[in-house]
Amino acid sequence: MSDLASSPNPNAAAPLLWQQHGPVLALQLQRAPVLADQAVVCAALQQALQQAQDDAATQAVLLLAGPAWDGALDAAAVQGDAARTPDGQALRAACQGIEAFPKPVIAVLQQRVQGAGLELALAAHYRLALPSARLAWADWALGLPPAAGGMARALRWMGAEAAAAWLLGGKALTAQQACDAGLVDQLLADGDDALAAGLAWAGQLLAQQAGPRPASAQLLASPEQALAELDAQEQAQRKSSRGLQAPGLILQALRTAVQQPWAQALAGQQAVFEQARGSAQHAALLHAAWAERAAAQVPEARAAAPRPVHCIGVVGGGTMGAGIAVAALNAGLLVTMIERDAQALARGQANVEKVYDGLIAKGRMSEQAKADTMARFAASTDYAALAEVDLVIEAVFEDLAVKQAVFAQLERVCKPGAVLATNTSYLDIDAIAAATGRPQDVIGLHFFSPAHIMKLLEIVVPAQAAPDVVATAFALAARMKKTPVRAGVCDGFIGNRILAVYKQAADYLMEDGASPYEIDAAVRGFGYPMGPFQVTDLAGGDIGWATRKRRAATRDPRARYVEIADRICERGWFGQKTGRGFYRYVEGARSGQPDEEVLAIAAAERARKGITPRSFSADEIMRRYMAAMVNEGAKVVQEGIALRPLDVDAVFLGGYGFPRWRGGPMHWADAQGLQTILADIQAFAQEDALFWQPAQLLQQLVAQGRNFASLNAAAATTEEQTP
Ligand code: NAD
Repeated sequence: MSDLASSPNPNAAAPLLWQQHGPVLALQLQRAPVLADQAVVCAALQQALQQAQDDAATQAVLLLAGPAWDGALDAAAVQGDAARTPDGQALRAACQGIEAFPKPVIAVLQQRVQGAGLELALAAHYRLALPSARLAWADWALGLPPAAGGMARALRWMGAEAAAAWLLGGKALTAQQACDAGLVDQLLADGDDALAAGLAWAGQLLAQQAGPRPASAQLLASPEQALAELDAQEQAQRKSSRGLQAPGLILQALRTAVQQPWAQALAGQQAVFEQARGSAQHAALLHAAWAERAAAQVPEARAAAPRPVHCIGVVGGGTMGAGIAVAALNAGLLVTMIERDAQALARGQANVEKVYDGLIAKGRMSEQAKADTMARFAASTDYAALAEVDLVIEAVFEDLAVKQAVFAQLERVCKPGAVLATNTSYLDIDAIAAATGRPQDVIGLHFFSPAHIMKLLEIVVPAQAAPDVVATAFALAARMKKTPVRAGVCDGFIGNRILAVYKQAADYLMEDGASPYEIDAAVRGFGYPMGPFQVTDLAGGDIGWATRKRRAATRDPRARYVEIADRICERGWFGQKTGRGFYRYVEGARSGQPDEEVLAIAAAERARKGITPRSFSADEIMRRYMAAMVNEGAKVVQEGIALRPLDVDAVFLGGYGFPRWRGGPMHWADAQGLQTILADIQAFAQEDALFWQPAQLLQQLVAQGRNFASLNAAAATTEEQTP
């Protein structure tokens, strides 16, 4: 807005630029009112408003902001520390100042309008929007309701139904939707100049002698109906808000705003904001958002530049290969798929096309867009087609010999410097790398199923991997919009290694007397979408069975081994795909029914081993399940398989359905107190000292009165100090 260059404070670092245009004072926010800046930006706004109030020639105020309306809290900027979340006091005062201003205040919205910026916009008396505007309560994802009256104002501008749907749904409104909902008074045209359009509109208002129009003066037609609409929205959003505390607080504030006068409505809103700001859920959600970003900060990505990647090869067109191919195509890459024979190749290509056909059927993709995308896809049974690719991802059967044979082929055909990646879930990547003469180019890229949807990507770094290969993997992850987490080589890396241990804890619970249904219910009650036995049925019991058989020879003979799942698999009950597993599935159903025969199998196994069944409360089930998870998580950090506890959290949030509002297993453990977890492990060790060996790291931290967060903080400090 060059017109404002001659403003009294033309310094680009100033929080606000202002200039008089006849009777209109135009104010442009330069910095988002968020974090430490919030008080500075809001004070500058208040000062400008005071001047406009005192100046008789000023008849209206125009608020222009562009990107600076994006005032959402940034988890990375506050390093995941809820103690640094602004208290909203300055923002409340600024919003109140705008609301009560005796002359019309008009906001012109464009691009992202969220967080504190959205609060200011709603406090204005009139709103215009460019088509680019997107209005979102972004802090919602961090468990924070609006801080400064935004809920009460949304209610008055839009009515209860639309306001609740917007506030509870967590989705952005487009400019058009905001206009339809009554939140925006006029939708401007694409390409309109915000200042010129705003001044023209202000001119019309003044010509009509329209005065200020505070939200507080807008009355709800029928408070009874508004309350009924809030009840209906509560029902509609119940499923998606399971376990979350913010939706309940938002509804509480909206109900207060319907039933009470304006001052109490604002006070009620402030109370719920403060409650949320000080809550464990806000701390957990903030940590989750931060951990996912911090996980991408790894030494190799700082030390080396990534190799260029334009075209990639995918070996194997099964479940994973096809999903990886789609993820790569969606990232704009050229993809060549290799399969064993023509039939498998046709199946692989069909698997890719099926994803796009699904999008077309849902109206989310055009035939032309599919054709354009598939034009970047090639398929062959000849490895020579990989001669020019920059990176290959192998996704063939989970068998070391098969993978080693594939890598020997890759070494033969791929150009020097090509990155050779494997999607193995468990296998030793050092052994795979050793099958080539270029182990420095080999890395693990462990995608999760479905690979084009799941955000998590474990980047598994074998001993000899070159730093720029690791940097290339992280750059690829960013391009594919994945959450990358660095992992070291071990059986199962971070996620599957820890999963194997807490799954074992679940098996022990089952053999000791808890039914799989009680265990699944307890795990769902904790906030997971599914319990471990439901997951087994979904993935296919045969997969775990094959792994157990593979590991039988190397299993510690002293270790307790539960055979209930084997007895079930021996009957050909592999879960959903066979209609029976731990649950029974009636034709076509995805949710199963408890099965008396499964309970009988478990009872027979207990009898065979002379185990007297006992009952477990949901609380005890979860204490054991989580203690196993956290203990193995600590071992994974202690061994350097995960760089920091936050990496374990990012893995479980992104790939294993861990409830986000609990922040990840390591954050959860900190919140419980590590001494409590250690005491549990030591008590369980009385029953089975081999399984319940407390991690040294856990014992050390407890002895030092420290927690996992202190390790995250120490790692962040080291990073800051590394150039
Ligand atoms: P899949 O059986 O669906 O697909 C494997 C494909 O590889 C088949 O289409 C097969 O024809 C092909 N193939 C086998 N040998 C080949 C060769 N020499 N050259 C070319 N193609 C060959 O298996 P999947 O579920 O896609 O798993 C593939 C890999 O991904 C495994 O290592 C698995 O552990 C890993 N993984 C699987 C999942 C999952 O949930 N399915 C998740 C993460 C990782």
